[in-house]
Amino acid sequence: MFAQVAVPLPLSCLTYRVPQDVPLLPGTAVKVRVRKKILDGIVFQLVEQQAQTKYEIRELEGISEDFPQIDVDMLRVLEWAADYYHHPIGEVLRTFLPPDPAPQKKTLFQLSPSAILRLQTEKGPKGSLQKEIFQRLLDEGAQSLSGAERAAANRLVEANWLEKKIVLDLAVPPPGSTTSGQAPKLTQAQAVAVEAIAAAIEKKQFESFLLQGVTGSGKTEVYLRAAEHTLRQGLSVLVVVPEISLTPQLVSRFRARLGGNIALLHSGISDGERSRQWHLLNSGKIRMCIGARSASFAPIRDLGLVIVDEEHDGALKQEDHLRYHARDLSVMRAKFRSCPVVLGSATPSLESFHNAQVGRYRHLLLPERASGQIMPAVTVIDRTKTDPAVSISPQLQRAIRETMADGGQSMLLLNRRGFSSFLLCSSCGHVPECPNCSVSLTNYKGSARLKCHYCGFQSEMPKACQKCANETLVAGTLGTESLEEEVQQLFPTARVLRIDRESMERKGALEAALLSIAAGDVDIVIGTQIIAKGHDFPNIALVAVVNADSSFHLPDFRAGEKSFQLFTQMAGRAGRGSRPGRVFLQTFSPNHPSILHATTHDFFHFAGEELSVRHTFAYPPFVRMARLLVSGPSSELAEAAATKIAQALERMPRSNANVDIVGPSPAVLMKIQNRYRWSLLLKSASVKELHSRLRVAILQTVPTLDRRVLVQVDVDPVSLM
Ligand code: ADP
Ligand code: ZN
Repeated sequence: MFAQVAVPLPLSCLTYRVPQDVPLLPGTAVKVRVRKKILDGIVFQLVEQQAQTKYEIRELEGISEDFPQIDVDMLRVLEWAADYYHHPIGEVLRTFLPPDPAPQKKTLFQLSPSAILRLQTEKGPKGSLQKEIFQRLLDEGAQSLSGAERAAANRLVEANWLEKKIVLDLAVPPPGSTTSGQAPKLTQAQAVAVEAIAAAIEKKQFESFLLQGVTGSGKTEVYLRAAEHTLRQGLSVLVVVPEISLTPQLVSRFRARLGGNIALLHSGISDGERSRQWHLLNSGKIRMCIGARSASFAPIRDLGLVIVDEEHDGALKQEDHLRYHARDLSVMRAKFRSCPVVLGSATPSLESFHNAQVGRYRHLLLPERASGQIMPAVTVIDRTKTDPAVSISPQLQRAIRETMADGGQSMLLLNRRGFSSFLLCSSCGHVPECPNCSVSLTNYKGSARLKCHYCGFQSEMPKACQKCANETLVAGTLGTESLEEEVQQLFPTARVLRIDRESMERKGALEAALLSIAAGDVDIVIGTQIIAKGHDFPNIALVAVVNADSSFHLPDFRAGEKSFQLFTQMAGRAGRGSRPGRVFLQTFSPNHPSILHATTHDFFHFAGEELSVRHTFAYPPFVRMARLLVSGPSSELAEAAATKIAQALERMPRSNANVDIVGPSPAVLMKIQNRYRWSLLLKSASVKELHSRLRVAILQTVPTLDRRVLVQVDVDPVSLM
C-alpha cells in the first residue's frame, strides 16, 4: 500500500510506502521524512500500486499525534483549490492547517484492548485504589488522573490492564447564554427565504442561495433563523464575513441569539488562540464559526450550512500566495459537503447575480427595510457647475451646517484612487478611455502620455478635452489630510475626526474612533472606504461622497460595479435612527450609471446596464479570466518573460473554444519592493480551455524562464492593479 501525502511546503503530494501494521485512511495525519526532516503531513489518497519513479520511495514514519482525522470532504476542497488556483497542494494545506504552536497535550488513561477479554477468565486488578480506578474507567471512559491515582494507574498500565493515550488539552469554554430570546416576527419576504433555506438544510442537499436585500432589510435575521435551524438538526454553521473587526454587531447578534460556543477566526487573534480554536472545531467540540476570509477553510465538523455575508466584497479575495476567493471556496465546501450555502448582499457581485439569473443560484429577495423605514433621499451635486478648487460645494456646505445646527453628525467619504491618476475635464467631466478595453486611461505626467493598463494602448496627452474642447484638464489628487484642513477652515467650530489608514495605524485606534462617533463626540467624520462598511450609527444624518469620479474612473473593468456598491453602502449609513437621512454624491459625471441608479437604490437597472457593457467588451461573468503577474529585478527581464509566456500561449493548438491573450502590459503598480511587474490577461468563454492552457504554460514555459523571474497566477482576479 502507498500513501499520497501532502506536507506544508510548496510541493505536490509525495508518495510513501505504508508499513503493514499502520492503519491509515485518507485524512489521517502522519509523520514523514522530507529530505532530512520529519514533518507532519496529511494522507490524501491510498493506492495499491505505484507507478515507476526515479526516486526511492520511503516508508512513512508513523501516525502523527498532533492532528485528529481530517474530514474527507475537506480533502476534496483542498484538492479543488490546488487545481483551480494552480497552486501546490502543500501550500493549500498550509493555509488550512493551524499555526504553531499546537495546544498543550495531556495523558488520558483508558482500558487496554485486552482488558475486557481478560475479565472473563481473571478477576480484575487487585488493591483497592487500583480496583476503584479500573471500575471508574470501565464505567466512564478515558480520564486524566493525578497524584496517587496517577501512580496507581501507571502500575495498571505495566500490568496491561490500562493504556495511555496522549491527546490535545482543549478546555471548552462554558457555553454563553442567550440574552435576547425573542426574535421579531418575520416579514413575508423573510419567511419565504427562511423556509427555502430550512428545507435545503433538512434535505442535506447542496443548493446555493443568493439572498439579496436592501440595507436594513433583515438579512441578518434570516441568517440567524437558518443558523438556529441548522444547530437544532445537530449540524454546524460556518459564517464568513469580509472583515470581522468591522462587523462586531453581527457577532454580538449571533452570540445573543444562539448562545453556545462560537469560534471567532480573524487576523486579530494570536497564533496560539487560533490554533486552539482550530483544534476545538476539528474535534467537533464547537459547532459554530464566524470568521474572515480564512474561515472558509475552518475545519468545522458536520457542516450543515454555510453563510457568506457581503458576498460582493473584494476583501473576500486573498491577494497573495494562494489567491482564493472565500465566497467561491465556500460554495465548493457546501458542494463537496452536500449542504446549502447562502450568499447575502444588498449589492451582489455581477457574477453571483448572473448565476442567479441563469438559475444556478436560487434568488431570494428582501425588497424593503424590515422596520418599514424608507430609503434615504440621494442628491447628486454636479461639480462641473462649481469651483473645481473647492472640494465641498456650496450646496453640501449648507447641508452640513443644517445638520450641525440640528445636532446630527455628518460623514464625508473621500475616495482613494488606488494609486493611479486619470485626466478629467473639469468642464464636462469627460475622462479618456481605452478604445479596446472600456477602462479609463492612466495619466503619466512624466512622459506626457495616457496608457491602458490592460492592453498597453497609448496616446499623447491631449491639450484639450476631446468632447467639449475645453482646456481645463485636471489630474486632481486630493488627500484626506488636505480635505480635513479644508473642512476645518469651512467649519471652524466643528469637531472633525479623520479615519484613514494613516490615522488608524495604532492598534485599537479604529475601535476608539468608532466609540467616539457613537458617543456623539464628533460632528464631522472624514474617511476613506473603511467608513462605508457595516457601522450602524443612529445619529449620522448626512452622508456625502466628496469625489465620486475617482471611484468609477479606476483602470478596472469592475470600477462601475464597485462604485455602485460603495455609493449604495454609503447611502445605507444614513438615517439608521429616527431622523431621516440625507445623502449627497458630488461628481463631474452626474449621468454615470453608478451615480444615476444609486440615487434610486436601483440595483436591477444598474446590473442590467452594466451586464450589457460586460457582454460587449467580453468581461466576466460572460468570460472567465486569469491573470499572470510576472515580476523580476528589471522591467526588461519581466517584460521578456511575460512576452515568452504570451507567445507560448498563442502557439498552443486552437480548439473550438478561443482563449484571448491581452497584454503583456506593465502593471498599474509597476514596481513593488524593487521588483518590476508585468501582467498578462487570459480570457475565455470556456473555463476548461482557459485552465488547460494555463496548466500547460505553467508546466512547460515557466520552468524555462530566467530564474530571477517570478510568475504568480491569479484566477478570477478581482484587483487588476
Ligand atoms: P440587514 O442585515 O439586511 O442590513 P438586519 O437584519 O440588520 O438587516 O435588520 C435591520 C434592522 O431591522 C435590525 O435592527 C433588525 O433588528 C430589524 N429587523 C429585522 N427583521 C425584522 C422583523 N421581521 N421585524 C422587525 N424588525 C426587524
Ligand atoms: Zn486597452
